[in-house]
Amino acid sequence: MIVVMKPGASKDQIDQMVTQVESLGLKAHVIVGTEHTVIAAVGTKRDGNKESLESGDGVAEVVRISAPYKIASREVKPDTTVVSTGSLSVGGGHIGVIAGPCSVEDEQQILQSAVAVKEAGATALRGGAFKPRTSPYSFQGLKEEGLKLLAAARDETGLAIVTEVVAPEDVELVAAYADVLQIGARNMQNYRLLEAVGGQRCAVLLKRGPSATIDELLLAAEYVLDRGNPNVMLCERGIRTFEDHTRFTLPLATVSYLHQKTHLPVVTDPSHGTGHAYLVPDMCAASVAAGADGIIVEVHPDPAKALSDGYQSLTFDEFGQMMQRCRKVAEAVGRIM
Ligand code: PEP
Ligand code: MN
Repeated sequence: MIVVMKPGASKDQIDQMVTQVESLGLKAHVIVGTEHTVIAAVGTKRDGNKESLESGDGVAEVVRISAPYKIASREVKPDTTVVSTGSLSVGGGHIGVIAGPCSVEDEQQILQSAVAVKEAGATALRGGAFKPRTSPYSFQGLKEEGLKLLAAARDETGLAIVTEVVAPEDVELVAAYADVLQIGARNMQNYRLLEAVGGQRCAVLLKRGPSATIDELLLAAEYVLDRGNPNVMLCERGIRTFEDHTRFTLPLATVSYLHQKTHLPVVTDPSHGTGHAYLVPDMCAASVAAGADGIIVEVHPDPAKALSDGYQSLTFDEFGQMMQRCRKVAEAVGRIM
């Protein structure tokens, strides 16, 4: 349920309503909007709760939220959430561009990448230090050493760092270095991990699982929001279908659909979504045209030598050209990139 307060409701009235919601055994999330403050009352449904809240001081109305996710829903918060951390802002008029290699490999590789993507206009640096690999024999990442190299690249360029965390016990360590904690597709439904990142203030990039529905993605986001971390970005990174010419199938209608259903900003990942470097620039342009709030793109100084995902990584030149093209698309659809 959401308790919509009257415009101009006082702080005392809001506090009183929070206490009343909590006394019903529900959790209260206060969301301050441009017109109204609303209090999302979430928890196990009980008859009679709606009626008992309606009579509260300063209450305009109490509305049941029809979606299975609650705090993530646009019904609760009509204004789009802007996730900002350091150089990265996603959800405002500016399109966030997160770029860099799939994995951090060594100091030179990550520093060169950071400088090159920044020069081309990226607003954050990506790079995996903890890698969830399909095979146990593939490169697993440099772990803390990789995090240190990312932090050094941030010192050098000022770019915010986006990096994956794969286990709840690593969350504090990764959050000590990163600006954005990436939850990878394979972990979208790792609920202990979602709760652990929900306990941080650090922004979260939540990737869609390759076989997860959009409601499942939003319910995964709800785990993070419910733990008190509002800084969540959603990422469409492609799903598994019968098609085998692309690594995954990248459904761009997800962007518009999510914009209708949730206030959380939406990023697309054309690199994993296609699995082929030559398809990435087109899908970046299409994402911008479709209204994505950001893109995350793999870029490598020498893709043929990459330790992971080289076949879908752009060279510095290709990244620069893609950015120039996407800027024109952004301008055409009234956005800034
Ligand atoms: C990645 O970003 O390199 C990655 C592993 O992505 P995903 O979780 O979407 O496969
Ligand atoms: Mn990758």
